[in-house]
Amino acid sequence: MSENRSDLPAKHPAGAHEDLHAKHPAGAHEDLTVEKVIIIGSGPAGYTAALYTSRADLEPLVFEGFQWGGLLQQTTDVENYPGYRDGVMGPEMMQELRDQAERFGTRFVTDDVTRVELSQDGSPHKVYVGDSEHLTRSVILAMGAEPKKLGVPGEDELAARGVSYCATCDAAFFRDKPTIVVGGGDTAMEDATFLAKFAKDVKVVHRRPEFRASAIMLERARATENIELLAPFTIDRFEKGDNGALARVVLTDTGDGEDRTIDIDGAFIAIGHRPNSEIVEGQVDTDEDGYVLVEGRSTRTNRVGVFAAGDLVDRTYRQAVTAAGSGCAAALDAEAYLRDKPVDAEAHWEPDLEKLEAAAERAASS
Ligand SMILES: Cc1cc2nc3c(=O)[nH]c(=O)nc-3n(C[C@H](O)[C@H](O)[C@H](O)COP(=O)(O)OP(=O)(O)OC[C@H]3O[C@@H](n4cnc5c(N)ncnc54)[C@H](O)[C@@H]3O)c2cc1C
Repeated sequence: MSENRSDLPAKHPAGAHEDLHAKHPAGAHEDLTVEKVIIIGSGPAGYTAALYTSRADLEPLVFEGFQWGGLLQQTTDVENYPGYRDGVMGPEMMQELRDQAERFGTRFVTDDVTRVELSQDGSPHKVYVGDSEHLTRSVILAMGAEPKKLGVPGEDELAARGVSYCATCDAAFFRDKPTIVVGGGDTAMEDATFLAKFAKDVKVVHRRPEFRASAIMLERARATENIELLAPFTIDRFEKGDNGALARVVLTDTGDGEDRTIDIDGAFIAIGHRPNSEIVEGQVDTDEDGYVLVEGRSTRTNRVGVFAAGDLVDRTYRQAVTAAGSGCAAALDAEAYLRDKPVDAEAHWEPDLEKLEAAAERAASS
């Protein structure tokens, strides 16, 4: 379950090397060490990439962001990450992932990367925190995607106390309870259909008269006995009960302006995600919503030596374990790239082993 970010753990965990970037002001290129791999982001994808690259002796430098630990820092119970039979609290799990990566020598900077200059030809990429510059042979992008919020009263306060942004994660906590899903697209219909297996009933609330979900998803929701579609309504506010948890939602009918109050225990916000891809915009290929595009099942972006993992590339699964899995894949892709590097830029894209080997030989003899 999600919880208010004011409860986040200390911003600067033990072991954070916050002074790393201060040593390298922009413009002093000659003095800069060229890192083998820089990882940007510190959710399950970033920390798993750090674990694998540090165990491969690549001495990763992780820019973990000011809000280190990613989305699971906003969560209480995580019951679906393998290996935790009795579940685990989100922040505890992220501290464990971080500690495990640190054990093998990962270095951390607990700050946000403000800008990158990704090279096109295999020369070092540049990563900036403010004015301080870092050079690196490879980059793993793992900045995640933020769920969009409604921005209504009660939403933040009741996050993790009934308001959720992840039906796959939290639906099972609402067995036989009245719930709503907010949204009108495929994700909202999918969330509602999944939630309906557990909840007493699910009202899908949408602000426009027409749902924009695909016909098949809409039909599936309509055919489910305990799902009701409510439109056009906006969410005015969420209200808590005596126990401090979500108890009611107040809706406004956008037709006649009348308010309608519904008793609920759970509200699932399904109005989309915003990938944190601003810093690479215009440099790596993204889709129309800003998700970073990778080649096939690999984590390779269109820039040589630049890899992407986790929710930043994933509009479908968005789970901690899938993010961790792709963080592992990015680390292995980066390792393979560095092993064959320096090679010509085309070799990055070249699945042909012979050509790869030839490129590596060329590089070794140059
Ligand atoms: C409320 C909630 C509850 C959830 N519960 C579960 C659950 O129970 N089980 C489950 O499997 N999944 C759950 N999820 C989904 C899960 O949290 C995500 O799928 C997962 O965290 C994605 O991992 P990630 O590494 O891709 O990105 P994130 O976890 O989003 O991490 C990205 C990190 O990158 C950092 N970052 C962003 N930009 C920069 C920058 N410029 N410089 C440096 N750092 C940057 C951010 O600060 C953040 O720390 C939940 C999600 C939410 C919102």
